[in-house]
Amino acid sequence: MGQSRFVATNKVLIAGPCSAESLEQVLTTAESLSVFDDLIFRAGLWKPRTRPSTFEGVGEKGLEWLAEVKSRYSLKVCTEVASPYHVEKCLDYGIDALWIGARTTTNPFSVQDIAEALSGTDIPIFVKNPLNPDVKLWIGAIERLQKSGCKSVCAVHRGFSLADNGIYRQSPLWQIAIELRRLLPSVKLICDPSHMAGKRDLVLELAQTAMNLCYDGLMLEVHSSPKNAKTDSEQQLTPSGLKELLDSLRLSVEGSNNTQSDLEMLRKRIDDIDAEILRMLSERMKVVAEVSKVKKQNNISVLQINRWNKLLEERMRQAEKLCLDKSFVKDVFEQIHKESVNLQDRMIKKI
Ligand code: PEP
Ligand code: MN
Repeated sequence: MGQSRFVATNKVLIAGPCSAESLEQVLTTAESLSVFDDLIFRAGLWKPRTRPSTFEGVGEKGLEWLAEVKSRYSLKVCTEVASPYHVEKCLDYGIDALWIGARTTTNPFSVQDIAEALSGTDIPIFVKNPLNPDVKLWIGAIERLQKSGCKSVCAVHRGFSLADNGIYRQSPLWQIAIELRRLLPSVKLICDPSHMAGKRDLVLELAQTAMNLCYDGLMLEVHSSPKNAKTDSEQQLTPSGLKELLDSLRLSVEGSNNTQSDLEMLRKRIDDIDAEILRMLSERMKVVAEVSKVKKQNNISVLQINRWNKLLEERMRQAEKLCLDKSFVKDVFEQIHKESVNLQDRMIKKI
């Protein structure tokens, strides 16, 4: 099948509708997805919705539908749990894997209750990142499950909720997932580009970034008829859309020895440049300390807003000439300026 390259690289593939809506919708979608090797079929039964009068999932009766998917199509099945009761019901029906949703991960009490309900079982569990960009909260949830004896705990990066999410429904903030990977290198990291994107057209681009960053798999929302979906209709792919996406993904390979040594040389240059950047920053801060002495002697305020405006304008012009991204350079100088102001403030209080 089209996704065989994906499976051959040992990536996890989870796909299925946002919500189970009817037996027919679940079976039709599952049948189209049963052609993908090793796919884990997903469908939400208990849906955490923002407003109470919207569709909140079919609940327990969907467990029978997932059991039917298992027996008819030999697919593994998974769903979201948000309470010990959900866990108990899923275990009764032989659900193969569970996920904890972003809203639940945000609450350590709920995660602890779920972890205790899972104690003594070996069902794989996928932990979505919390809504707020807090890597510790995400790690904390994973640790609660591990401490409870869960052996197969994976992380799912589904994006974060910021005041401004730009073109996305949820901001990816890749750096947070990279930090999770650095701190928990043995935990598999899966990307859910559907909830990041919010729109079908943006899913491929996000999935590709995840592959470029060596994620261990993808969770994608797929519906037999997305436009009629009761939840998240704009972001769900059709089964053939999933095939197209998997066919067009560029998957990274390990690389030959030659490529590895080319990479090593380039990384060495980056290490040297970073050392130089740090040395220059240290020099800059020494000059800032001198400035603070002059300001103190002459009773001049630390913050000189005109100077800061001019500096920023000038750095933006320089950045443009050097073909650097202006918003990146702005972020860097805002951080540098913040530390310069803090340093002067500390110095003036001390002298
Ligand atoms: C979902 O996967 O359908 C879902 C509700 O996810 P999240 O918790 O990431 O919003
Ligand atoms: Mn959804």
